[in-house]
Amino acid sequence: MKLSGRVAVITGASRGIGRAVAAKFAAEGAKVVISARDVERLNAVKSEIAITGAEVTSFRADVSNESDIKALVRYAINTYGRIDILVNNAGFGIFKPVIETQTEEFDSLFGVNMRGTFIATREVLADMISRRDGVIINIASLAGKNAVENGAAYAATKWAMLGFAKSLLLEVRKHNIRVVTICPGSVDTDFGSGHRPNRDKILRADDVADTALLAASLPATAMMSEIDLRPTNPN
Ligand code: NAP
Repeated sequence: MKLSGRVAVITGASRGIGRAVAAKFAAEGAKVVISARDVERLNAVKSEIAITGAEVTSFRADVSNESDIKALVRYAINTYGRIDILVNNAGFGIFKPVIETQTEEFDSLFGVNMRGTFIATREVLADMISRRDGVIINIASLAGKNAVENGAAYAATKWAMLGFAKSLLLEVRKHNIRVVTICPGSVDTDFGSGHRPNRDKILRADDVADTALLAASLPATAMMSEIDLRPTNPN
């Protein structure tokens, strides 16, 4: 068991990458707190994990809402006494030309993808700093390193996540806290339109989960700070 007894909070765990990370971490002995907005789907994921005998609880939280995030962190600490691993995964995309992108859409992208990551991170830090231990895993994207035609607002949120994570790392490594940013290419999930013509060629949610597990289970003295994750053969 690579994460035996570790407490992990995973946002956006009702489906896709977050669900795969939660299942993988739980299978490796972590106590997982799964979170998202859709309670029915969350309950379904909770049941899938609980049936394996793993320790799992769920908490509804919208990461665009500061008090929801604070309540999630409080819930995890009250339930398990600490948070060892935070996975900032909740996110969504809007893909259209800038000229068609509404200010509300731009604000909402930043509110979930970046502001949600910032608040969740800030809220877990006091506990991690006091224990001089912790791993913060951010699910960014290759869209945070490259230009995306008709995806400028989404790409901007992921470029922001990378800037935030790189700076945070400099700030918290002295407390033994590791900051890991995973930048996947296209992953076969419901993300965006969910339309994936080349399903069998792109990454699977499980590939991202394996990568998160790899980063989270390194010895505490080693940090995988940034990972570009691509399909081996996309053609
Ligand atoms: P997905 O299948 O659409 O899942 C997104 C998850 O985020 C869901 O569990 C959703 O749950 C949750 N979520 C969305 N808005 C939320 C909010 N306001 N508050 C709380 N939870 C929220 O997409 P995915 O592919 O797994 O995406 C996960 C992350 O990977 C995202 O950050 C995405 O940008 C990133 N990523 C995806 C790809 C890709 O091609 N799929 C590539 C690179 C990076 P609820 O709807 O229940 O709240």
